[in-house]
Amino acid sequence: MDCVFCAIAAGRLPAHQLYRDEDFIVLLDIFPMRPAHVLIVSRAHAPFLEDLPAAVRDRLLALADRMAAALRAAGYGREGINLLINDGPDSNQHVPHLHLHLIPRRRGDLPALLWRLLVRFLPLGRRRLQARLQAEAEQLRRALGEEN
Ligand SMILES: [Zn+2]
Repeated sequence: MDCVFCAIAAGRLPAHQLYRDEDFIVLLDIFPMRPAHVLIVSRAHAPFLEDLPAAVRDRLLALADRMAAALRAAGYGREGINLLINDGPDSNQHVPHLHLHLIPRRRGDLPALLWRLLVRFLPLGRRRLQARLQAEAEQLRRALGEEN
């Protein structure tokens, strides 16, 4: 059995990676619920938040704050961002490895389900999704590099 996030953290699977440090990797969700849907993933395999050392848990919020600033600098989520942790396998966690979602929102944005249907299931949406992820990753890496 292999965990997708462990495989990405170990470099065995490709990802649209934005950032990495000793505790976390940050990447774009390949099944986005909105444009520029970011995931902060612990490098250690940990289904629950409480599985992480306290010092690492504390750094998670600081990193989320930094990512939110980068998203806003790149033009996403100025009107709001959902920060979401599904804590544990039975909490709708699709990968049982701790990750924090940052989902940029805007007033009047499409319902998440409709947006997901458009980008995932329509052939044109699927083809555009890869290009979209690529462009968003470049934009957010730039925003992260420029913030100081
Ligand atoms: Zn894992």
